[in-house]
Amino acid sequence: MSSNLVVAWPHGIICASDRRVVDLVSGRVQTNRSTKITVFGCSDAHGAVVYNGIGIDDNGLTPSDWLLALGGKGNLFHRGLFELLDLVKNDLQARLQIIRAKYGPKKARHTFVFGAWHKGASAIYGISNYERVDDDKEAVEGSDEVTLSSFLPTPTARLRIVTTGLRPRLTDVRAIAEALKTGPPNRTLASSVRAVRNVAYGRGKATGTVGASCQWAWLGPERSQVWFGLDVAGGAIAQETPNLINIGAEVHLGGSFSARIGGPGMLIGDTYMGDDRARGVARYDAAKKKFVFSELRCGICGAPWPASHRFCEVCLYEKHRGKGRAQRRIV
Ligand SMILES: [Zn+2]
Repeated sequence: MSSNLVVAWPHGIICASDRRVVDLVSGRVQTNRSTKITVFGCSDAHGAVVYNGIGIDDNGLTPSDWLLALGGKGNLFHRGLFELLDLVKNDLQARLQIIRAKYGPKKARHTFVFGAWHKGASAIYGISNYERVDDDKEAVEGSDEVTLSSFLPTPTARLRIVTTGLRPRLTDVRAIAEALKTGPPNRTLASSVRAVRNVAYGRGKATGTVGASCQWAWLGPERSQVWFGLDVAGGAIAQETPNLINIGAEVHLGGSFSARIGGPGMLIGDTYMGDDRARGVARYDAAKKKFVFSELRCGICGAPWPASHRFCEVCLYEKHRGKGRAQRRIV
């Protein structure tokens, strides 16, 4: 399970997602640093994709890897948005049928949510076998068919917020809408990140299916207006950014530094940026022939602890929760 949201309004789209993956069968936390956002450009749209459901398949691939694989096949991301949505839908259906046959329909549920600028409007599309983006009902069992749903702006619903997975609290979703009406744009982003983090920290324990670090992407109507980043509870020593397919994006690195990554025709997965302290964040694995991100287990609680995070997010939560109790006693 993940927690993610897509906020779309007439001037922007924000996507945010947690980064935890738990094992489909045992429920054990496998990683706290899975990249669950892909920013993309296609011939007539640009947007970002978040997801909920399958974390890692039996081949060790994440749904972000599935999208990168599609991006690597010919020029699929140079086609129009609807053709692309159809390709992703068919690809997902074939993958879910294999998972369903092995683990059953309750485990084989998956949703991709696309927030995309298409024909000048901020559109939201869902590709799922158990829920829709224009309705918050969800089926307990995943269907063997994957369907496309849409949530487009209307004169009465210009602002739309779609949440999937473990949904944020209603008060946190309302705070996003309020921030958009009244505050500077950064407050909307901060509220979106907080809504996801509160899912991780808001249920009395920090070891559930949703993690406390959050990747995000912010997209304006122009293809050059794409910003993305990572927000980690307790701070990070490196930025680990969402994946990019056929588009460039800008990341703020701290102080007056920022970087622009990617561009048309490029596929970029699992990147990080940092100063000298970040040298150990990823290393080349000769056997796997790829860079592998370092993630040790916390010596105290055993939770996966990504090398880019300054603190273990589970212990950090326990520490603050302890403080909260102490303060309440004093009062
Ligand atoms: Zn810990």
